[in-house]
Amino acid sequence: MKHNKYSMLAVMLVVCIFSTGRCYGQENTEKTPEVKNIIFMIGDGMGLAHVAATTIYRNYEPLHLERAQYIGLAKTYSSNNRVTDSAASGTALATGVKTYNGAVGVDTAKHAVRTILEKAEDNGKATGMVVTYSVTNATPATFIAHVESRKMEEEIAEYYLKTDIDVFMGGGTQFFKERSDKRDLADELEAKGYQIVYTLDDILSFSGNRLGALLAPNAMPKMSEGRGDYLPLATDKALEILKNNSQKGFFLMVEGSMIDGGGHKNDAVMVIDETIDFDKAVGVAFDFADKNPGTLVVVTADHETGGLSLPSGKPDFTLPDQGIKYAFSTGGHTGIFVPIYAYGAGAENFSRILENTDIPKIMEQLADIK
Ligand code: MG
Ligand code: ZN
Repeated sequence: MKHNKYSMLAVMLVVCIFSTGRCYGQENTEKTPEVKNIIFMIGDGMGLAHVAATTIYRNYEPLHLERAQYIGLAKTYSSNNRVTDSAASGTALATGVKTYNGAVGVDTAKHAVRTILEKAEDNGKATGMVVTYSVTNATPATFIAHVESRKMEEEIAEYYLKTDIDVFMGGGTQFFKERSDKRDLADELEAKGYQIVYTLDDILSFSGNRLGALLAPNAMPKMSEGRGDYLPLATDKALEILKNNSQKGFFLMVEGSMIDGGGHKNDAVMVIDETIDFDKAVGVAFDFADKNPGTLVVVTADHETGGLSLPSGKPDFTLPDQGIKYAFSTGGHTGIFVPIYAYGAGAENFSRILENTDIPKIMEQLADIK
């Protein structure tokens, strides 16, 4: 059996990969840091060009993202298309399973797949989500719900009653309170022990441990419409609540939801405004990791939107007063790899070219989430 030696090596390698930190082979004797808290940040549609454009706009003044200690790349394709939508890629990032475009927390056979947020809850961790679009929109939906289509937003809202998520903040009042079945899910959540609030001030003055914030009927306002510092402030508040809620740590997903919209509209001003806002939240998360050892922050995108590039002098688009030239190649998503920025405990595990589905698997392994 000529291949025996190689088979053994392959088996050992697989064992090593799937037991990171517990592999005592010849070379890898390193002990993996214990991850207690996970902050998973998703810039919807945030490709490398979006980050580069934002950096150029700032005259190369570094973004918080540049504090990342390890950088990787993620392949974003879905099970049925090399260009994913936010539902399939969200499901990949939440469950580690590739599925069809439009799917929310279900596999290609439309069977529910447990998400990292659900598993974290089952493992005694506190959990939360903070977004700028509706909390029922595709990306957050994939972490909490299991439905065959992202369009089923009223059904998705009901999943907030089916889990023990500690904190959720974003838009989406209409899916909780103006429903076709006349239920008022906000009332039902309050009966379950949540405080449901409708303003940023009420978020900031909150002092309990179960909070739902619904700040708009559907999407929240864009940065250009005066959203202000909601995302970094809400992220900071969510971290405070989650840290207090469990000795066993937490899982928090934060989404810069509207970078994607800038890409779809081929609106570079919106891309940059929304990326700067998301980056402020990244700074909050990195600062938290600095002060709380055992915290892992992973920042990535679900896909790129707009096919943005930064050509020299090509007048497709000139940002007012900046003289930066832009070219968008599509009003949709693209299949280009997206960046991964990792910070804190276990960050070195993301310095690779990964399938998007690898990301939750690695996080679960590092934090011993089962
Ligand atoms: Mg999204
Ligand atoms: Zn999109």
